[in-house]
Amino acid sequence: MESVRVRFAPSPTGALHIGGVRTALYNYLFAKKYNGTFILRIEDTDQTRYVPGAEAYIIESLRWFGILPDEGPEFGGQYGPYRQSERKDIYRQYVQQLIDSGNAYYAFDTADELETMRESDPTFKYDSHTRLKLKNSLSLPPDKVAELLEKNDHVAVRLKIPEGINISFDDIIRGHVSFSSAELDDKVILKGDGMPTYHLANIVDDHLMKITHVIRGEEWLSSTPHHVLMYRFLGWDPPAFSHLPLILKPTGQGKLSKRDGAKFGFPVFPLSWDSDHEEDNFTGFREDGFLPEALINFLALLGWSPGNDEEIFTIKQLCEVFSLDNIVKSGARFDIDKALWFNQQYIIHSDDLKLAYAIQDKTIEAGYHVSIEYLAEVCGLMKERVHKTHEIIANGRFFFEPPRSYDDETIKKKYKPEYNDHLVNMAKALATVPSEKIEITIKGYIQDHGLKMGDIMPLMRIAVSGTMQGPDLVKTIALIQPIHASERIIAAVTHFEKLD
Ligand code: GLU
Repeated sequence: MESVRVRFAPSPTGALHIGGVRTALYNYLFAKKYNGTFILRIEDTDQTRYVPGAEAYIIESLRWFGILPDEGPEFGGQYGPYRQSERKDIYRQYVQQLIDSGNAYYAFDTADELETMRESDPTFKYDSHTRLKLKNSLSLPPDKVAELLEKNDHVAVRLKIPEGINISFDDIIRGHVSFSSAELDDKVILKGDGMPTYHLANIVDDHLMKITHVIRGEEWLSSTPHHVLMYRFLGWDPPAFSHLPLILKPTGQGKLSKRDGAKFGFPVFPLSWDSDHEEDNFTGFREDGFLPEALINFLALLGWSPGNDEEIFTIKQLCEVFSLDNIVKSGARFDIDKALWFNQQYIIHSDDLKLAYAIQDKTIEAGYHVSIEYLAEVCGLMKERVHKTHEIIANGRFFFEPPRSYDDETIKKKYKPEYNDHLVNMAKALATVPSEKIEITIKGYIQDHGLKMGDIMPLMRIAVSGTMQGPDLVKTIALIQPIHASERIIAAVTHFEKLD
C-alpha cells in the first residue's frame, strides 16, 4: 500500500467544535496505525467567515490532546504552504484547465441577480435547466463574453455538471454511494474575489498533497459527487472517502450544535473561547476539568467500536486497534455522563503530580498558594471522589483553609454537650502528636473513654473539613497537619454549642 497521508482540514471560522476534534482524532489514529502522515491544512478561502485566532485555537487544541500534525502551518512539510489563502496562485491553472476542457464556465450574474432569482423561486438551482437562461459564458454570445471578461478583473467560475449521468463512489463507511447529476448544482469553484471555493481548493490540495484517504464529517457527503467529478475532469485519481457519522444531541435528536453546550450545561468545545460577542463565549472541556486522554478515549468510541466490550484505551492502544471498518453509519449520541465516567476513570488512574499540575492554575485562581507537592497529596486523597479535576479544589477546600461552614444537619443529629470535653481533649492531644501517631492517638482516646467511633468521629470530621464527605480523616489530618486540625476542632466546638 502506498504510504497513508491523511489531512484534517478545518476552516478557521471560530472555536473548533468537539465533532471537529473527533475528525482530527480519527485521521490521526488512522495515520499512526499505518505509519502514515497526519496533515493539518487550514481551509481559509472564505475570507468573509475568517475569524482571527481560530487557527491558533485549532493548533492549541490539537496540542492539548497530543494529536499533533506531522505537516501543517507551524509544523512544516514539503507540500506547503498549508494555509489555502497562501496557495491562491496554485488554483488558477486548474480552474483554467477545467474551463479549457469545457467542464467549467464563467458566470457573470451578480449576487443581487441571484438573490432575486431565489426570491421568486425558492427551489432555484444554477444547473443544466437554468444555466442557459442566466448570464454566463455558455448562454451569452462570444463577443459579449469577451467584453465582460475584459471589463472585469475577477469573474466567478462554475463547474458544469453533465446532464443525465450518475456519479458514484465507494465510501469506506457507507459502501457504494450514488448521486444523479440532476441533484447537483453548478457549484462556484472560483469566486469573484479571485479566491477558489472550498470545493476546488479542497480537491486540488488533496491531490497536490498526495492525500490517500479523506476522512471527514457526514455533512460533506453531498459535496463529494462534485469532488469526484472534478477529479475525473482533471484526470486525477480520487482519494478513498470515509464520511463519519454525525454527533447527535444527548436526546439523540438532531446534530449536536455549538449552542447545545449552553443548553445542556456541558462544553462542546475543547478549550474556552473568548469572543467580543457574549453569546459566542464558550467554556472548554479543559477549563471544565476534563483530562485530554479521557476525552480522546470518549471521542474514539463516539462513532467507532473496537468490536468488543472493551472501553478503556490509551491513545497508543487506539493507534493499534482503530480501523475505519468499525465506524458506525448511524449518528452517535453525545452522552455527557459517559464522558464524565471516562474522565473519572482517567483521574483515578492519573499520577498525583500530573493531576496537581493540571489543576495548579485553578488552585491559584481560587486564591490558594500551596506547593506542587502538597497539591499532589491533595490530589492523591481526592481523586477517587471526583468526576472533574477542578472538583478536587471545590470539594477539597478544607485542605487549603479552615471550613467556612459546617454540615449543620449532621451536627444536629450527632452532637451531645457531653462530647465537648472529649473533643477539646482530642484537640489538645492532636496539637502535639506527630503525623504517624494520629490514628493511634484518636483510637486510643476513644477506647480509653468508652466511646464508640460513631460518637465523636463524625463531629471531628465535620470540624476538620466542614462536611461528612471527604477522604480518610486520619490522612486528611496528617496532610493539613495535626496542629491545624486541633485548632479547627476547638473552633468547631463553639459552633456546635451554639447550634445545640
Ligand atoms: N474545510 C472543511 C471543514 O471545515 C473540510 C472538509 C473536508 O475535510 O473536506 O470541515
